[in-house]
Amino acid sequence: MTDPANAPHTPAQIRGLVRDILDREALPPIVQAGHPVLRARALPVDGQLEPEELAGLIDLMRSVMCEAPGVGLAAPQIGVPLQLAVLEDLYDVADDIAAERDRRPLPFFAMLNPRYEPLGTTRALFYEGCLSVTGWQAVVDRPAAVRLAYMNDAGTHLSRDFTGWQARIVAHETDHLAGTLYLDKAISRSFTSNAEYAGHWAQPGIAEARAGLQF
Ligand code: ZN
Repeated sequence: MTDPANAPHTPAQIRGLVRDILDREALPPIVQAGHPVLRARALPVDGQLEPEELAGLIDLMRSVMCEAPGVGLAAPQIGVPLQLAVLEDLYDVADDIAAERDRRPLPFFAMLNPRYEPLGTTRALFYEGCLSVTGWQAVVDRPAAVRLAYMNDAGTHLSRDFTGWQARIVAHETDHLAGTLYLDKAISRSFTSNAEYAGHWAQPGIAEARAGLQF
């Protein structure tokens, strides 16, 4: 039985956990909602790992994300309570969906200790899902643009602005590191199984879902 009080938190425990995951032959499973690691605030990355261990962890997280497949993965989703996430969105998307959702390719990057704030007051409402809540999607009201402050894997502090779908991914992954799931911010009446989404609500926008599900 998992005891949140016994969750790894000292630098030695964190390093041991990561080395154990890196030593396995198989990719680690993606932790599902209900596990306390997804609800705890992750620890800042602060020298717990040697540079090659950090690089190995980032590579592994990228593999897990691609295998899933997904456009982002936060370290707690493989049970590692560190403020680290990887993002990449290079999938082919239909032109009408890309236009409506302002979805453009996002080259791979890793963010450490990220924080974001909205840029402006424009909001965007679209369906999103999470690799830790498999089988379901819901509409989340998020800033249409965000400013992200983070550290890269070389330890350089950076600030980048993101708009559209990229801003959504950045916010979703950063929220994970504070123990927040998209469900916490979702419009609950929009909640839909993937099958119902594919059958009824996969249009570029949410107007039909809003009418059909009355939210
Ligand atoms: Zn997620």
